[in-house]
Amino acid sequence: MNNESDPEMNPGDDAPAGTPGTGEDVCPVCHGSGKVEAEGAPQTCANCGGTGVIVEGIGGG
Ligand SMILES: [Zn+2]
Repeated sequence: MNNESDPEMNPGDDAPAGTPGTGEDVCPVCHGSGKVEAEGAPQTCANCGGTGVIVEGIGGG
């Protein structure tokens, strides 16, 4: 296991961007805004790292 987080990946990503068999999808946490509201203040969405999109496996996963 590698404990260092890959800068190309966010917690919500299944794989690094560009991986064959994967595609970008709207982040289900922030719904594409890249931000979430926590305690009344907007915060960068941790799931997508503020990008608003995640990388998910597509096809017969
Ligand atoms: Zn998000």
